[in-house]
Amino acid sequence: MTNKLYYENVYQSIFVATVTKSEDDYIVLSETAFYPTGGGQPCDTGTINGILVSNVEEVDGEIRHYMNDYISVGSKVEGIIDWEKRFDHMQQHAGQHILTAAFEELYGYETISFHLGSEKITIDLNVENISSTELEKVEQLANQIILEQRKIETKWVSKEEVNQYPLRKILSVEENIRLVIIPEFDYNGCGGTHPQNTGEVQAITILGTERQKKKTRVEFVCGQRVRKQIHNKTNVVSKLTSLLHAPQNELETAALRLIDRNKTLEKEIKILKDNILQFEAQDLLKDAIKVADHRVVQASFADKSLQELQTIARNVLAFDSEVNVLFVSEINGKLQFLCQREKSIINMKNLAQSILPVINGRGGGNEKQAQGGGESKTITSEALLTMLLHQLK
Ligand SMILES: [Zn+2]
Repeated sequence: MTNKLYYENVYQSIFVATVTKSEDDYIVLSETAFYPTGGGQPCDTGTINGILVSNVEEVDGEIRHYMNDYISVGSKVEGIIDWEKRFDHMQQHAGQHILTAAFEELYGYETISFHLGSEKITIDLNVENISSTELEKVEQLANQIILEQRKIETKWVSKEEVNQYPLRKILSVEENIRLVIIPEFDYNGCGGTHPQNTGEVQAITILGTERQKKKTRVEFVCGQRVRKQIHNKTNVVSKLTSLLHAPQNELETAALRLIDRNKTLEKEIKILKDNILQFEAQDLLKDAIKVADHRVVQASFADKSLQELQTIARNVLAFDSEVNVLFVSEINGKLQFLCQREKSIINMKNLAQSILPVINGRGGGNEKQAQGGGESKTITSEALLTMLLHQLK
């Protein structure tokens, strides 16, 4: 126990120790201030004798400091942990204790898991819904506890002594029990790092909730991260204010107006497109040609999708159901064709099948409508159209 300096709420970012084990990618020290990943809290990073410590894990009772250079057993070393990061973790972790206790104290909601990420922190509560009033009350209480600057104590107790404390959760260990106590508020078995009093958490802000099956995930930030959140949100608001030409309290209305306008424009564009396709269909119909006994509306296009070809064909046949429609389009380096009729007698499926080998293509359909697509390397869209027309003779 004594070799874990981070256990004692001590603000120790520099320490000296002796190397007791040295492997290819990690070393073990006689004592360490480096906190290993665990209990929902990420590990400390920093340096040992100037060499970067990228990861710290507790494996088989030893704390392994992972690094890229070798230090021999018996060496005296100086360890320095990244204090800014560690203090941030302390603020977030202690803030989580306070928020969890506030949820439990006010509403009996139990925290079932905790995650400390590099941007945000989450806890999962065993409840399906939390109202915004409840969130506000909890946030208020949590910040009140911070304001009161209550002591955060750590205590080593035996299995028997534990019973004197109103613990929030059943302990997962039976010996070397470490309690973290905020008097008259929170009693908790915990091996993490904490500041010495609640005031150092500075502030807690709940950012939002997300329902997850039968639980609710609460996202929040503490300490310096509250200031960073406000800073980032202010930046976003200021950009939106200038983009939407509206002050902060009118941004929502301005955004809704924009979305509404967009919907109207989309509808208008659709109507205009349909009109254009109808005009196009009428134009094509005027240029219908006669092949053998069949009247054919034919065209080759650049960059028209199969869907567009189908719309034009439908329009053509709506004006005149006696014609045959043969369209080819070159789009995205491929050839696409459509053969369609309504009352005429040509078998469009057979027609389509007859030209597929030319473009090494694939297609399908029925007697009235068939389509296909294939390579444009060996033949142009005009030549493919000529070939289709030839099949009608
Ligand atoms: Zn803790």
